[in-house]
Amino acid sequence: MEIQNVGVIGAGQMGNGIAHVFAQSGHNVLIHDVSEEAMANALKIIEANLDRMVSRERITEAEKAEALGRITTTGDISEVGKTDLIIEAATEKEDIKHAIFKSLAPHLGENTILTSNTSSISITRLAAATDRPERFMGFHFMNPVPIMQLVELIRGIATSEETYQLLAGVVDKLGKTSASAEDFPAFIVNRILMPMINEAIYTLYEGVGSVQSIDTCLKLGANHPMGPLELADFIGLDTCLAIMNVLHDGLADTKYRPCPLLVKYVEAGWLGRKSNRGFYDYRGETPVPTR
Ligand code: NAD
Repeated sequence: MEIQNVGVIGAGQMGNGIAHVFAQSGHNVLIHDVSEEAMANALKIIEANLDRMVSRERITEAEKAEALGRITTTGDISEVGKTDLIIEAATEKEDIKHAIFKSLAPHLGENTILTSNTSSISITRLAAATDRPERFMGFHFMNPVPIMQLVELIRGIATSEETYQLLAGVVDKLGKTSASAEDFPAFIVNRILMPMINEAIYTLYEGVGSVQSIDTCLKLGANHPMGPLELADFIGLDTCLAIMNVLHDGLADTKYRPCPLLVKYVEAGWLGRKSNRGFYDYRGETPVPTR
């Protein structure tokens, strides 16, 4: 089966990055979001990112125009059903994802492959509620998608070998590298990364260090390109909390207890970069720590 038409559901930071890389590698991409504003914003971000690639002479003006020309948006989810491959990249909430797959169901093409970019939610459970668990997989891109090399591939219990191989081939075609993870809470990357971020937030909560000192320690002391609090803001604190909750509920171990300070930031609507405030305040020229 040849994948030519790709549907992306959710036009947030992941959805726009996924649309960008598929369009750039020659696929037609149809983006759907419940928010018109998110779709308009996604197109602006993709254009700005392609512009940056042109200015760095990584692509030509003509290649940029071709990639943009392959992307369309729709407010009607039924139009996404007939694509060859659907990548769900909506908000990290299981009920939202179930509702999306349910509303897609009557409109799906016979051979359409369904995937979710979820960071943590059970692929087997999402797949079980569809009519095609053998053609359903976890397709976990990293942020920012045009830059990060890895795609984590997660088989649900019923995913067929044919589906797995097809998606591994798609990753190759994108020029990225895949790694296989079993379907347990948060898979591999976030099973390891998120408890570290949560521990950094506990370190702040308990007053062991300030935002600045925690990030400096991990950047200079562990050679991480970004500090854990800077990274949490980049990922989105709501997404971080959702992943910690999945780890805590799914593995029933108190070591995954989300830090109360993370909960407080999310309750305040301080979600990190996407809301202009999190562990840093991004409203001025340079980010200022909020603690
Ligand atoms: P985001 O908040 O930037 O975007 C989510 C988008 O989903 C929003 O535009 C919202 O309008 C849309 N949405 C909500 N309900 C919808 C519905 N019913 N139908 C269609 N669209 C809907 O979130 P994000 O960071 O792009 O994360 C999206 C997914 O990708 C999540 O599952 C997340 O866990 C996963 N992910 C995130 C990261 C990261 O670093 N942020 C990395 C890898 C994977």
